[in-house]
Amino acid sequence: MRNDEQYMRLAIEIAKAGIGQTSPNPVVGAVVVKDGEIVGFGAHLKAGEPHAEVHAIRMAGEKAKGSTVYVTLEPCSHYGKTPPCADLLVETGVQRVVIATTDPNPLVAGKGIEKLRSAGIDVKLGVLKEEADELNRVFFHYIATKMPFVTLKYASSLDGKIATTTGESKWITSEAAREDVHRYRAVHDAILVGVNTVIADNPSLTVRLPEGGKNPIRIVLDTHLRTPLDANILNDGQAETWIVVGSEISVEKRKRYEKENVQIISMKKPHIDIDELLRVLGEKRITSLFVEGGSHVHDSFVRAKAVNEIVAYFAPKIIGGKQAPTPIGGIGFAGMADVMQLEIRRVETIGPDIKIVAIPK
Ligand code: NDP
Ligand code: ZN
Repeated sequence: MRNDEQYMRLAIEIAKAGIGQTSPNPVVGAVVVKDGEIVGFGAHLKAGEPHAEVHAIRMAGEKAKGSTVYVTLEPCSHYGKTPPCADLLVETGVQRVVIATTDPNPLVAGKGIEKLRSAGIDVKLGVLKEEADELNRVFFHYIATKMPFVTLKYASSLDGKIATTTGESKWITSEAAREDVHRYRAVHDAILVGVNTVIADNPSLTVRLPEGGKNPIRIVLDTHLRTPLDANILNDGQAETWIVVGSEISVEKRKRYEKENVQIISMKKPHIDIDELLRVLGEKRITSLFVEGGSHVHDSFVRAKAVNEIVAYFAPKIIGGKQAPTPIGGIGFAGMADVMQLEIRRVETIGPDIKIVAIPK
């Protein structure tokens, strides 16, 4: 017979099935155990579809009565698109519920646990809490701030250059590293670049993986609406494109961009303020944002302290040259007291390259 941690670890693995496809909902996994036997399991796979507990209880059928249910997130207690899972667990007659972490959603926050306990169910909280919190860091951040979780990505040479002095940047990192980037794209609600990157590279910003994957919404920071009308992102119909502009763009100019799948989002100020931008994107239900450059845009996010995670790839190449651009351009920080302090979370090798994941302290 396994212990609580082992069953919860399984529930967490199952929850991962939903990564990148449950937005704006969290990912959740559940395992039902009766007399030391796993009789049901399930994951939440898409907003509007059944929660993890519902799938798991259904699979367990009759055996769910008197069972222990392991769930990675506090069962919901409110009527959303589906009836509350806490009620389902009570009605089913489960004996014990083991929960990894509480749901910060003010509609739930402790109320699910309360419901279970007042029905006489034995509730244990906090098993593998850290792993479960990590799993839903995007959702938790969004609930707490109403702004998207921001991941900043760049690929550079070992000497920290993102292009040569002549501007050549294809390709610095290996195909394997680039495939990893596409995997990040597929699990984000939106991907963001500066207008200079659109002009210089004419990227498509889509997901190109052997196994497929959904394309995120493409967002361009373009104060004066300089995005070329023949840009791929405006014409390929692969995903929605949102162009963010300052407050001083004329109606006539905006009209030229009127097209299916293209939206112009106007800021209140003449320039694009990152805080305002993130608030607006949050209102539009963007819970995760993948910022892919260029260096000017990276600098704005870093200086606005609007970065939640950095994913950096380093290729074993030296580009050199004082004028060759680096991942964070713009203004930067003047004093060491002000620089962005990070904590390294993971270091991996991908093909010939190195990947570092870091979070701000
Ligand atoms: P960016 O792509 O960062 O675009 C910067 C422009 O975006 C600004 O000049 C500005 O133009 C507009 N913008 C609007 N609002 C903001 C804001 N709040 N903060 C910053 N910019 C804003 O340009 P860069 O020149 O820095 O980088 C482009 C180069 O980087 C390209 O050559 C590209 O190939 C390379 N690149 C390399 C990558 C890598 O990982 N190796 C990844 C991505 C790009 P305006 O005032 O007109 O609005
Ligand atoms: Zn639920």
